[in-house]
Amino acid sequence: MADTHPYRLQEGARVAVIGGGPAGAFFAWSLLEMAAEAGRRLAVDIYEPRDFNQIGAPGCNGCAGIVSESLVQLLAQEGIDLPTSVVQREIDSYVIHMDAGSATITPPRPGTRIAAVHRGAGPRDLRQATWTGLDAHVLGLATARGARLIPQRVTDVAWVEGRPTVSTRADEAQPYELLAVTTGVNSAALKLFSALVPGYQPPQTSKTFIREYFLGAATVDQILGNAIQVFLLDIPRLDFGMLIPKGEYITLCLLGEEVDNELLQAFLAAPEVRRCLPPGMALEKPSCQCAPRINTLGATQPYGDRVVFIGDSASTRLFKDGIGSAYRTARAAAAAALEHGVAAEDFRRHYLPVCQAIELDNQAGRLIFAAVSQMRARRFARNVVMQMILDEQGQPGPLRRMSAVQWDMYTGSGSYRQILLRLLHPALLWGAAKGVWAALAARRRLPADPAPGAARQPSLSP
Ligand SMILES: Cc1cc2nc3c(=O)[nH]c(=O)nc-3n(C[C@H](O)[C@H](O)[C@H](O)COP(=O)(O)OP(=O)(O)OC[C@H]3O[C@@H](n4cnc5c(N)ncnc54)[C@H](O)[C@@H]3O)c2cc1C
Repeated sequence: MADTHPYRLQEGARVAVIGGGPAGAFFAWSLLEMAAEAGRRLAVDIYEPRDFNQIGAPGCNGCAGIVSESLVQLLAQEGIDLPTSVVQREIDSYVIHMDAGSATITPPRPGTRIAAVHRGAGPRDLRQATWTGLDAHVLGLATARGARLIPQRVTDVAWVEGRPTVSTRADEAQPYELLAVTTGVNSAALKLFSALVPGYQPPQTSKTFIREYFLGAATVDQILGNAIQVFLLDIPRLDFGMLIPKGEYITLCLLGEEVDNELLQAFLAAPEVRRCLPPGMALEKPSCQCAPRINTLGATQPYGDRVVFIGDSASTRLFKDGIGSAYRTARAAAAAALEHGVAAEDFRRHYLPVCQAIELDNQAGRLIFAAVSQMRARRFARNVVMQMILDEQGQPGPLRRMSAVQWDMYTGSGSYRQILLRLLHPALLWGAAKGVWAALAARRRLPADPAPGAARQPSLSP
């Protein structure tokens, strides 16, 4: 007997995906794949006003562009290998910088793959693109599966006879069986949905900062190689800064609380940062820059009847692996819609738990960032942590506990809960106690912490 449940996606059902970034493209791709496996045909429209083949801001969803180890693995399991035309660099290590010294952290597990990509077609001054941005690639996977790309911004959403409708400047209201909202958090459109979906409250966000600098491939090779530089500096409101090597460019990324120009200037002036950049580099002449917002606390009730919020507009991992969260939430929403239905109750039971798990894990992340912030503000603690990392160098992978914590914090691998448990491991706590003891002994021979605003002391560690 035919399934006539009003909230099931029937043969030929129309689905609108609002936003063709990673969440939208992965959702369309997953939904069409799952529907094909179930022997159902669906008509999926992706509304995306950006042309990801345009250079500069019009073709880019601002992001540092690190594709995490766990996402690379998940995609490989689905048969998606990121081609060399998308991957700008295969990252082989991270270098952690503090005033207490610098330490290289290599993968604690063998076979790790982390990719550095451009999200769009490239920075504003790019002359000839020789690569594909990640967003164009993933969107291409979705359209190859049968999704239709509508290059328009959605300007209005409404309800007509129990169905959501979508309008653009070019088209009047189109009815759909399901709306997947994948607009991210840098879109005014989220306000439209707060009115459409009772209970939906958009995520809380913070301003971040990104710059791209052209240095040429040889210079990038020479100064950064394939290593991402992470800076844990005592700068108020800065959680961490990064320099990420790409093909001919490096990406500067600052994450923290409402990053502004004052914070940027403090970061650029830090000796730890200057040491990583070529002498005389024109820091105020970037190829591109933007200040996108980042999701810092997930949306409330990211679903309603016939509407589901996915990726950044719902929940994402705090400060890492946002593209991976877009993928995970997209898969979960597609499975809920196809296997169970598109009523609010279906999403509550079969999709919400995935978002809740992300938010729960982020609570552990907030605890860790609060601890890191305390560490950053105390020179004594910075020395202890840096010395622990340096002492571990050359040890077998499983014994490099502090290095593994740092690796998982900044690469996007491992959950925050796992990182917290590792931080509380008796062996790591014992190592920290020994480090504190050694630092206390050394401190008797060294000057005290500088007063706030005073010049930095020279590095204590190699
Ligand atoms: C500074 C910074 C650095 C980051 N670094 C990383 C990183 O290194 N690795 C990582 O995994 N994640 C990173 N992230 C997070 C990552 O960028 C996001 O988690 C990810 O982009 C979310 O994907 P999304 O598809 O939900 O949203 P988005 O990527 O924001 O895509 C939303 C899409 O919706 C479209 N849209 C908006 N409004 C409308 C409308 N009205 N109609 C139609 N379309 C619309 C937009 O044009 C856009 O293409 C970073 C974020 C920031 C801010």
